[in-house]
Order: sequence, then structure tokens, then C-alpha cells
Amino acid sequence: MRLLRDEALQSDDGRLGTRFWIFPQPPFIPGYEQPDRVWLSIPADEIGPGPSDATMYVVDPLFEKRPYGLDRLPPFDEPGRPPVRPGPDRHFDSISPDAREFLPVHAYACVRFVLQVWQSYIGRPVRWFFDQTFPRLEIVAHVNWDNAQAGYGFLELGISDTDGIRRPYALNFDTIAHEVGHLILLSETGVPTSLSRGADFFVFSEAFSDIVSLISFLHFDTAVDRLLRRTRGNLLIYNELNRFAETSPETQVRLATNFRRMSEVTGEVHDRALPFIGAIFDTIVELYHSELVQRGCADGRLLDVDLRELDQLDFDRFRAATAEAFQARPLAFEQALTAARDAVGQALAASLRGLEPNTLTLAGAAHAVVAAADVATAPLLEINFAWREIIGRR
Ligand SMILES: [Zn+2]
Repeated sequence: MRLLRDEALQSDDGRLGTRFWIFPQPPFIPGYEQPDRVWLSIPADEIGPGPSDATMYVVDPLFEKRPYGLDRLPPFDEPGRPPVRPGPDRHFDSISPDAREFLPVHAYACVRFVLQVWQSYIGRPVRWFFDQTFPRLEIVAHVNWDNAQAGYGFLELGISDTDGIRRPYALNFDTIAHEVGHLILLSETGVPTSLSRGADFFVFSEAFSDIVSLISFLHFDTAVDRLLRRTRGNLLIYNELNRFAETSPETQVRLATNFRRMSEVTGEVHDRALPFIGAIFDTIVELYHSELVQRGCADGRLLDVDLRELDQLDFDRFRAATAEAFQARPLAFEQALTAARDAVGQALAASLRGLEPNTLTLAGAAHAVVAAADVATAPLLEINFAWREIIGRR
């Protein structure tokens, strides 16, 4: 009897989701040495060895594999390492982060985590743009190549090599989330069929993917907690922001806190994407401030000043006030940040379906995000896109 009850409990537990370890930032980043235990919403009995499920599977090549390209596509048909199996409780958190077999498990968990976040914003499952040819996404956990890429039916992860230190991208949540961002965008807008090299679609795709990475990162409770504790609730990184940006260990934040306008960037796609990313980040920070004011955690005057032109005195005053409020009510700060994150994530996700990939312009994409935003978010987005010279001023 006892046994039966335990079994029933255990399988119930598996229906609630499946446990994995994820490093929100690669483990060599100070403060992020330990992984987070996360529950993915997919039931344990829907995940097979690999891990694999109905929409994706991981392969881990045994020998050197050449990266995929136009002439080489999935499925992977060479010898691979044995597919990783879950523990006896059907969860994957019994696999040690130090084990070699952790790489495919971590890569899978990151892809699923990001997809879970964005499917919630979009409001339905994402159907891969390549599903006519390949029903499932192939995740290649390890390629001997200093890059990571997503393409038609695949997402493959190489190894970064900085000064001779080799770090697998399979442990890098930023990189994986960015690549999943590309796949989500193409799946929602459709694949462009006729584009010139300099087309805005590529720029928007890089911006969107970095924002996917930033917003997905903000879904780790521990990451939000660390970010707020380190800044003592003050994301007002504008004057001080540059200093923050240079020292911020979170890659996504470092990238998003930039001042670039369209007239100041080069033609290179990642450079051209910066103003769009910056406008989105500024909007999250401003919404965060208004949420703080509503919760009685910050002075209302915070909303009246142009954050980009704040002088040192104002900045110091706000910093002191927020630090005090943060000490007293850290939870209110977390709620403010997650509310701001979700308002912007929702607007972005809702804007995708209406975008036409062949004729997409950055201005058109910005207007679509504004149109999809709620009444509190839309005007902030509009001002920030205008300041970045992505859309005209009213
Ligand atoms: Zn990219």
C-alpha cells in the first residue's frame, strides 16, 4: 500500500514537470558558479533519452563533426555518445554538472527553458519553420568549432576559445538563448525569400535574439535576485550606467546598456542592432521605475527626469533612496522588475506575427512592438525608439 502511494506520488511529481540544472550564466562568471535547479513544464514521461521529446532531440558526436551548412543538414548520422538517461525518478538533476554527459542535458534544458518563456508570451506553441522537412529540432551538443549557430533544423554548439581557455557553448545560456531567438523569429514571421545583404531583417533578427536572451535570463529567480542585490535595486545605470555596463558580469545586461543611436552605428548587423536593444532595455528600466513608484518604493520624481541626462547629484539622491527601500522591501523590487520584463516581453512576442520578413524595416518592427504593447508600455517604447532614431519623433 505504502509503495503504491509513493509510486503514485512520484508519477504525479513527473506530470508537474521535469527537474534540470541550468547555469543562468556560464559557471566561470563570478557569482554564477552554482547552477539553478529549474522545473521545466514538460512532463517527465514526455522526455526520452538524449534528452529528446516530440519537438527536439540532442545528439553528441563521438568524433569530429563538420558544422552544418547549406550543403550539409540534419539528421546527424555518424557515431554519437550514448543518449543520456534521467535518474530513477525520471528527472535529470541527478546528473552532475561536472560530468561530460551534463553538456547535452544542459543544452536541452536551456533550449526548453527559453522556448517555455516565449511560448508563454506568444500564447501558443512555436511551430518550427522547418517542420515540413524536419519534424524536430536537432541540438548538436558539441562541435569542435569556435562558434554556435542555428539553422534549418538544427542548433549546434561549438567551443569558445579565449586565450587558449576552451569553454563549451553548451554551458552558455546566453549563447543558446540567442540562437533559440533566431529560431523563434523565423518560425513566427516565416523565412524571408528575397533579401539583400544589408536588409533590416538581419539586423532585427540579431536585436530580437539578444532581447530573447536578456528577457529569458530575467526569468531565473536567482539572477533577478543577484542583479538587484548587487545594484541594491538601482538599475539606473545611465551616468553610472557605463561603469556598470563595463563591469556587469551578465553579458546580456552589458550589451543592452548602450547609448547608441542609428546615426552612430556602422553597417555591421550586430552594431546596427544595438540601438533597438538599447531602446528595449531603457523601456524595461523605465517601467521598472514606474512599478517601484506605484509600490511606494521610489520617489515619483524619478519618472519626470530624462534618465539619460541625469546629473550626478540626482543620481546619488535616487541611489541612496532606492538602497534604503530595497533593504526594507526586496520582494517589491523583484515584483517590479518581473512586471516590467513581462510587459515588454509580451509586446515583442505579440508583434512578431504581423511582421513581413521580406519587407521588414527596423522602424516597421518598432511600430509593431509599440502597437502590441499595453497602455503603460507603449508611450515609453515610442519615446525610446524615437530617441534611438529608429522611428521619427512625434
Ligand atoms: Zn545571432
